[in-house]
Amino acid sequence: MTTATTQDGSLPHSTENKPAPETSQQMKAVRFHGKEDLRFEDIQEPKCGAGQIKVVPAWCGICGSDLHEFIGGPSLCPTTPHPITGETVPLTFGHEFSGIIEELGEGVAEKWKVGDRVVVQPIIYDGDCGACQDGLINCCYNNGFVGLSGWGGGLSEHVVVPEYAVYQLPDNVGLDVAALVEPLAVGWHAVNISPFKITDSVLILGGGPIGLAVIQALRARGCNKIIVSEISSMRKQYAKDFGAHHVIDPTKDDIVAKVRELCDGTGVHVAFDCAGVQPGMDQAVLAIRARGTLVNIAIWEKTATFTPNDFNFKERGYLGVATYVKGDFEEVINAISDGRLDNAHKMITKRIELDQVLEEGFRTLINDKDNQVKILVKGSSEK
Ligand SMILES: [Zn+2]
Repeated sequence: MTTATTQDGSLPHSTENKPAPETSQQMKAVRFHGKEDLRFEDIQEPKCGAGQIKVVPAWCGICGSDLHEFIGGPSLCPTTPHPITGETVPLTFGHEFSGIIEELGEGVAEKWKVGDRVVVQPIIYDGDCGACQDGLINCCYNNGFVGLSGWGGGLSEHVVVPEYAVYQLPDNVGLDVAALVEPLAVGWHAVNISPFKITDSVLILGGGPIGLAVIQALRARGCNKIIVSEISSMRKQYAKDFGAHHVIDPTKDDIVAKVRELCDGTGVHVAFDCAGVQPGMDQAVLAIRARGTLVNIAIWEKTATFTPNDFNFKERGYLGVATYVKGDFEEVINAISDGRLDNAHKMITKRIELDQVLEEGFRTLINDKDNQVKILVKGSSEK
């Protein structure tokens, strides 16, 4: 199962980095070949090179961006060689995963041991562009993701990642909950870089997995006025279960009037858009008080429009956020461990096997979206 190799001595974050060399063994993987084409198939098992760590996935979540690729892609997945990984579709899926270390490449720090329980932070970055030089690996000009852009993914029996991508788990954080660290880090990071202060009131558009991650990040900081706007009755219930103080419905309520009423006639300090739809954003802007901020986390499928005067005349700000930076994963892991994110496990609504990913994972998320938050796929370390 393990075959040591050190033939590639380049730094893991360098543009000279290459995909992990392959062994002669086969393994199972779920690979995305193109629109509506996801296959459970045998591929070559990767070798662990210098500066790399080989992990047996334990649990892997299916993400909204995986679904977007499946339904309408490839869009995030490269069809011409990715500037860092050099890979194109077909690619192994899975970027929200935990696992067990099975092999350490040459030069990996002594703190790591075979058998360590870990979670993988999937951002791939070049380390030398302007954004990376500023420490903003999430904004790397060449960025990619393990599980979307190459270097394998969590929906396989083995994955090899650079040492920098691996984070140790405390004993009291389960490997299943650890697969939620990635989506939780998205919400955590958005709250971190927003101007939110503990006494602020907040509006969240959308009660999907990222909206629920933002609710949890705000509750962990002690926010006591979280208003969620959501249409689906099941997602409204989830929003309440995860700690929203008020849940409103844009098809029934006048969002602007309702938010002002809940906020002493003014509006919220911060609105987090986790839905990415035009009518929602239009209302959210007007529900923000003067000098408040609209924070956009959603991935938009289309170009949106807004009226600059709605921002200018009330001195409102706009902030775009992208995934997470170094530090966010540690903070989320610590917050799960010390109980500040004690509801995280409730995000797991279904558990499936690797060979069920297409029907029980992707099809369920497409057809039964409202009842699902996170579907976790069991990896070979859990067998
Ligand atoms: Zn970069």
